[in-house]
Amino acid sequence: MVGLGCYVTSPQTITVLGATGSIGLSTLDVIARHSDRYKVFALTGYTRLNELEALCIIHKPRFAVVPTEANAEALDHKLKAAGLSTQILVGEAGLDEVSAHPDVDAVMAAIVGAAGLKPTLAAVRAGKKVLLANKEALVMSGSLFMQAVIKYGAKLLPIDSEHNAIFQCLPTGYEEGLSSKGVRRVLLTASGGPFRETPLDALRDVTPDQACAHPNWSMGRKISVDSATMMNKGLEFIEACWLFNAKPEQVEIVVHPQSVIHSLVDYVDGSVLAQLGNPDMRTPIAHALAWPERIESGVNPLDLFAVARLDFQKPDEQRFPCLRLAREAISVGGTAPAVLNAANEVAVEAFLGGRARFDEIPQIIEAVLQQETVSAVTDLECVMQADRHARGLASAWLERHGR
Ligand code: NDP
Ligand code: MG
Repeated sequence: MVGLGCYVTSPQTITVLGATGSIGLSTLDVIARHSDRYKVFALTGYTRLNELEALCIIHKPRFAVVPTEANAEALDHKLKAAGLSTQILVGEAGLDEVSAHPDVDAVMAAIVGAAGLKPTLAAVRAGKKVLLANKEALVMSGSLFMQAVIKYGAKLLPIDSEHNAIFQCLPTGYEEGLSSKGVRRVLLTASGGPFRETPLDALRDVTPDQACAHPNWSMGRKISVDSATMMNKGLEFIEACWLFNAKPEQVEIVVHPQSVIHSLVDYVDGSVLAQLGNPDMRTPIAHALAWPERIESGVNPLDLFAVARLDFQKPDEQRFPCLRLAREAISVGGTAPAVLNAANEVAVEAFLGGRARFDEIPQIIEAVLQQETVSAVTDLECVMQADRHARGLASAWLERHGR
């Protein structure tokens, strides 16, 4: 039969790195609403392997990736018993394989922390559409990462709600430089986290559960602590400079406690464009998945009458020293942001494990930044070396303080 005037396109294949996490699950929720458009190619997990098994049974991926051979054997056994033919891959090599596989169209980079850098870069170097949630990867490797995006023709779409908002409000061609496109600055909004108004001397007694109870967003524990110290906004400040080819003075942080405006772009003619929505990561995920089209995400429509008011404040760098540390790291450049990130990861883990106080997180990072020798970023190995060395210094700080 000819002449029906329609054609069928096959669904896009998606690898979800960090499928068992908060962003991973939100991604799978959006994908499941559009099975005609998207097919899960690979899912990866690290500790929550029962959850990974359940996700495999629902989404039937071609590959799943787990950290060890023993994990692989156990999962293989269970998935075979469930009648699945999913192939199980192991460790870093497995993550790289599902990120760069020729049959993958898009990769959701949602592993938390430095562990996500190599597979995310593998996806970039394979020229994939990369949906970037793992901001630490970009903070660590900045210039290297962005050069690879250009060299290998990858399409990089921001998932971080603020950066996704800015992306939506920027003109086309912004990559050539914001000023040349009439952009004065980008305004990065921040909720201020759960301790925006907590008396300063009470911050030393904050518990991990209090730090993880974010007023507006439901997220993994590491990023929740980062939001409470505002290191999350510090990392996002660096992320914005790289993503949008912005100078640090072109990025301004605005505390906006309601988290309804996800960020803004200020133009030289006085226009300010903003993206608004309910605080639900399925909006930026659906936007990046379907870009340049729009798809339904499952997020409720924004009710401005219920929101009623929007407040704005200047960030308080005395209360949140991590903001200053991140600003200093990007202005020093080279491996300094990788050092900042690594020290933060060790400090946050120590805090979550009860080995460091909340107010010690910035102290640890500052001590490591002061001790570490910064070098230029020439290749991935020098980033990884700075990361390892900074982790060593942060651990030494903890030991010196009897933790
Ligand atoms: P979660 O802690 O909820 O999930 C992290 C994911 O990474 C899990 O799938 C985890 O596996 C996996 N993982 C952890 N360590 C390793 C490792 N060493 N090797 C391989 N996989 C690993 O974090 P989120 O989903 O909240 O955040 C993910 C990323 O997205 C972070 O970079 C965060 O900054 C960013 N982001 C998150 C937002 C959010 O709303 N949550 C918003 C904006 C950005 P397992 O669970 O099986 O151990
Ligand atoms: Mg964010």
